[in-house]
Amino acid sequence: MAIASVPTDPTTCVLCGGATRRTRTSLTFERGDLRVIVENVPVTRCDACDEQYVAGPIGLVLSDDVDRILGALETTLTETGALTRPRSLVVQASEIEDLAVAV
Ligand SMILES: [Zn+2]
Repeated sequence: MAIASVPTDPTTCVLCGGATRRTRTSLTFERGDLRVIVENVPVTRCDACDEQYVAGPIGLVLSDDVDRILGALETTLTETGALTRPRSLVVQASEIEDLAVAV
């Protein structure tokens, strides 16, 4: 599934010109064998080709916060010597402090 970061939500798809609508989706971020899944992220999705757009501020905050979450997860796993896999964490977009303003 494709996702693009854009300054503002497009009303028509940049790729195919199709109609878009606002919706929410889950985004998965991976670093090594660690995975963070952020649920209920507001996106704009093309009805025709399924391209998804994340508006600028949300995309920036999201990638910063996910970096921070991945770093914390990595530290915790290293310190506790946890061996369970997959090393994944599911968070709600509204639980991410800086993102709560945008969603
Ligand atoms: Zn499209």
